[in-house]
Amino acid sequence: MIGNNSMPGSDRNLLLEATSPATREYILARVKPVDLPLRTLLYHPEEFPQYAYFLTSGMTSIVSIMEDGRAVESGMIGREGIVGGLQLLGPAVGPSQCIMQSDGAALRIAFADLARAYQTLPDLRNCILEFEQAQAFSLIQIAGCHRMHEAEERLSRWLLTVQDKTGNDLLELTQEFLGEMLGSRRTTITMAAGELQRRGVIDYSRGRVRILDRSGLENAACGCYPIVARLYNGLYSRSA
Ligand SMILES: [Zn+2]
Repeated sequence: MIGNNSMPGSDRNLLLEATSPATREYILARVKPVDLPLRTLLYHPEEFPQYAYFLTSGMTSIVSIMEDGRAVESGMIGREGIVGGLQLLGPAVGPSQCIMQSDGAALRIAFADLARAYQTLPDLRNCILEFEQAQAFSLIQIAGCHRMHEAEERLSRWLLTVQDKTGNDLLELTQEFLGEMLGSRRTTITMAAGELQRRGVIDYSRGRVRILDRSGLENAACGCYPIVARLYNGLYSRSA
């Protein structure tokens, strides 16, 4: 595995690694390594963020909050990208929130420092724009997925994506949480998870999902999974 000795901690952020050594040095001089426990809120709806985060482990969800307080996930960010990049693109504040869905860690940077770097360092800007473009295409796909695909397909797609982002095959997830993320009733998710378990694809008990058969899960997922995975697999290497 390619390491980067100048980066604090043993984990890596792939966006930062795609920038030039000079840019990385500039950013690393302005970050603070932070632990991000499960459920940490990284930004709130209708607020400009104080910090942006280069995740080095774990994953976070972009969650849409409805008028009645219900929530549904529309995107995920892991160590392939940056949390707070969208807010760099213009003055709008968004209606969504970003919340850690696992324990993780990040290099945290003051949003004002990042905004200055974004203006002055073209390679950083290009990487952030490339990531935000992949995010936008992914969000569009997932919007369609929520409307068109069945719970089992969406659950499978979601579990595969979480595994890709975290590198773990054991995921701590309650049914209530899964229902929220997938915009489905808890009973619907319970049935879908039960069916995957019956086929030996996952083991699901007491809020823990273990992926037993990755290719079985890929077969059970909707076509959105390979579409979204492709968007992220080629990040930062397409124009090289
Ligand atoms: Zn789908």
